Amino acid sequence: MSQRIECSKRQCRWTGTFSTAHRRDDGFMKTAICPRCNCDSFYDLPNPVKSERAEQANALIKAISSHGRKFFDYKGEVSTIEVDAKGKVWFVDSYTKRRIYTHYQGRWSGFSNGGTLRDLVCCMRNYITKGHKIPLAWIAPTRFNPENGDIWGYGQEAAADLRKEVALLDIIDESKA
Ligand SMILES: [Zn+2]
Repeated sequence: MSQRIECSKRQCRWTGTFSTAHRRDDGFMKTAICPRCNCDSFYDLPNPVKSERAEQANALIKAISSHGRKFFDYKGEVSTIEVDAKGKVWFVDSYTKRRIYTHYQGRWSGFSNGGTLRDLVCCMRNYITKGHKIPLAWIAPTRFNPENGDIWGYGQEAAADLRKEVALLDIIDESKA
């Protein structure tokens, strides 16, 4: 994995690598600039800590992104969840490319999905930090709106396919369906 960088502007926090950054032509040299705010200073971002639970959460995100309305997918890029050296959980949004601190209680700046998916990301965080599994019924839930399939708008067929796929994951509690 090439060295990850994060835009130094607090309001931006774009995350990528020097190859995904933009370039400003300064005549004698090309300077790397942030694609979102054009700022030219970055922090080095350590690679995520290896974590089986984070892999489970990413498998869940990946499954959700490959069905129905493809939440968490932006033009083939899928959002990811990661753990840092202190055990804190971060969400990297595929649309905004912003790395979001999931333990933050206030508004998640740069989170491109709504409250329902934020709650789900918080459940993934709790699984990673505490081992609490996510009830299968919370994935594309149908019980509040049975005639329309599910509150995610995935449609009955896609929602059923998705639940069938994720039921096998350790992060999911299949008994609470
Ligand atoms: Zn920036």
